[in-house]
Amino acid sequence: MSRMKVGRDVVAATIERLQDGGRIGHERAVLWLGRGAGRIEELYEPRQRTRADQFYFDGPSMQLLFAHLRGKRLRVLAQVHSHPGRAFHSEADDDWAIIRHAGALSLVLPRFAQEATVDNFLDLAATYVLSTGNHWEEASGATLLEVC
Ligand SMILES: [Zn+2]
Repeated sequence: MSRMKVGRDVVAATIERLQDGGRIGHERAVLWLGRGAGRIEELYEPRQRTRADQFYFDGPSMQLLFAHLRGKRLRVLAQVHSHPGRAFHSEADDDWAIIRHAGALSLVLPRFAQEATVDNFLDLAATYVLSTGNHWEEASGATLLEVC
């Protein structure tokens, strides 16, 4: 499997958004959109309600997302969110996951991404890939993604 390419600008913007949430002590989530599975085209931050240990997209927010995807012929290739503490896929994360196609990625950044930089991002993020059996399996970010 070839690695999904993501631009340094997208990673930098992702870190900024997650750190913004961290400044008020809240989790935050962003989505990485693309056409084929090969390359992330853009960052999308859904309107969301957040708390220290949770984020939530309501119905209207999901409708805006789907309209955006349809309009630009994009799909969600990866979801990225922060945790207050350790980075792992919680049960809530498994249930919530907005993407349901095999090969989709989910990245979780620890400690509100406070220590994240473009260069250490893939090492810091706990990275999961959705298997054909619909399970999130942990993998090494560097085997799945290439920051370029
Ligand atoms: Zn989570």
